[in-house]
Amino acid sequence: MKVSINQSTLVLVEGDITKEETEALVNAANDRLAGGGGVDGAIHQAGGPQIMAECRIIGCCPTGQAVITTAGNLKARFVIHAVGPIYTGGAKHEPQLLASAYRESLHLASRYGLKSLSFPSLSTGAYGYPLEEAAEIALTTVISYLREHPEINTVRFVLFNRATFDVYCKVLSRRLNLVE
Ligand code: ADP
Repeated sequence: MKVSINQSTLVLVEGDITKEETEALVNAANDRLAGGGGVDGAIHQAGGPQIMAECRIIGCCPTGQAVITTAGNLKARFVIHAVGPIYTGGAKHEPQLLASAYRESLHLASRYGLKSLSFPSLSTGAYGYPLEEAAEIALTTVISYLREHPEINTVRFVLFNRATFDVYCKVLSRRLNLVE
């Protein structure tokens, strides 16, 4: 699914983010930048040890924030390590922290002059964020950023399985019908 947001394009695809050819991949990192399973493990595995070496120098990243490293052996030039919240019911500022993780990633891309980046579905794996609520926050945050930041040409959401892809498509369709 592909839609225009002013001059920019927002794309939803099913796939493996490590294969992306955008300028930056966003990693669903933890606050210690320590690597782990899920998309984090896949990015470090495919990108090689250079990425972890840079993460160790940076040290840590608070929840809701993002940091940037180069991308080792990946096709992308940079990895943006975003720390989404662990979901514990929604009363611990999880919605604001999730939106912030997306926004801070986009700000870093703008600051580095990047025109394209790819996101996974932050916080919806091991961190347990309910998928549909997370998709609402992800898409709303990215759409409002793109409306104000035409310097970013393309944002891709790379969803790892059909069920996740379908929920993002449903939420995006609903949002566009409401707004446009
Ligand atoms: P978190 O700890 O933020 O919940 P996870 O990596 O556990 O992060 O899961 C986030 C999402 O990333 C999940 O939807 C998971 O299916 C997905 N995912 C796992 N591996 C990949 C990959 N290689 N490419 C894209 N998405 C992936």
